[in-house]
Amino acid sequence: MSRYRLRPSPAQEAVLLEHCGHARYVWNLAVEQHTHWQRGRASAPGFTEQCRQLTEARAACEWLAAGSIIVQQQALKDFHQAMANFFGATHRRPRWRRRGRGEGFRIVAVKAGDVRRLSRKGGQVRIPKVGWVRFRWSRPVGEAKSFRVTRDAAGRWHVAFALIPQPIPAPGTGAVVGVDRGVVVSAALSTGDLLTVPALGEAEKKRLVRLQRALARAKPGSKRRTKVKVAIARLKAREGDRRKDWVEQISTDLARRFDVIGIEDLKVSAMTRSAKGTLEAPGRNVRQKAGLNRGILANGWERLAARLEHKAPGRVWKIDPRYTSQTCNACRHIARESRESQALFRCVACKHRDHADVNAAKNIRDTAEGYAVAARGGLPLGGPVNREPQRDLLLVG
Ligand SMILES: [Zn+2]
Repeated sequence: MSRYRLRPSPAQEAVLLEHCGHARYVWNLAVEQHTHWQRGRASAPGFTEQCRQLTEARAACEWLAAGSIIVQQQALKDFHQAMANFFGATHRRPRWRRRGRGEGFRIVAVKAGDVRRLSRKGGQVRIPKVGWVRFRWSRPVGEAKSFRVTRDAAGRWHVAFALIPQPIPAPGTGAVVGVDRGVVVSAALSTGDLLTVPALGEAEKKRLVRLQRALARAKPGSKRRTKVKVAIARLKAREGDRRKDWVEQISTDLARRFDVIGIEDLKVSAMTRSAKGTLEAPGRNVRQKAGLNRGILANGWERLAARLEHKAPGRVWKIDPRYTSQTCNACRHIARESRESQALFRCVACKHRDHADVNAAKNIRDTAEGYAVAARGGLPLGGPVNREPQRDLLLVG
């Protein structure tokens, strides 16, 4: 998100305020519906149902119908995102919105021509039912997929663009990298680098445990309980931010340094995770830790894969992960027994030794290289290329 100061004319401001009013009205309706819902009753209406109700409300209410459907639908979508964050324990429950306090609305499906530069310090953004609104071009604006318009308590307007990352040019060196998702380390690169997703520090972890104990002791409905909950939510949000930053850094770095990037195909790994053998010879407690971390890591991994494809379009190859951890990168012998422990790979055929995840990352790299060569119209897969692609890894089924 990058934020810019918006400078609407008085006439435009009137329409913007109306958009805010509609967004607030729809949001508050959603809050109200969910407040009245109680455990044991039929479930509160979901997004689709609320969208249907919105259509009905627009048919019955001229004031709403005169407004922008995008603004109103996005308010519902924002509410559902807020509920998801609440259930994910990273945010507080979405609350009633008051007039004049942190108002705003979101516009989606933004086209390339909807944002333009007028002068060195001036730009314009097209807002439905408002038209072109000037904003201060304080720094370059990338390609936006959506934006949010907000008005703070002081009456200042801002526009924040959600940007599609610009593709990063390939280095053109022919360098190929394989990335393996590990259990203990978050990702291993074929270069030998072991990457770990940042987590809370020791002091923060201790604090979290203390807070969670305090929460268990706090009386329901007490002020103390609310305070503790907010503190927990803040810690978790901090951890989430660190993970997001990490994904951005790693994806940019890989897109810059390598022409071709091989990663595991998650859809396949989800089905064959145990067959992959990463958990076959776990160290003590690895399995439990894996259980705790799996959801979080899977999440981060999905984001990493998505970001890589944004930043290096056409240069990312998804590799079937089966056998990547059981295949010796030196002699191609496949044996589950070669995976001596969580960290160590020792080939039963040729005695080649490597970090188990790095060995897997190298296999992913080689397969990705084979795909890339074939895609360039080079030698057919399995043909006499420098390093023969692993036929076993290319078989499907
Ligand atoms: Zn070997």
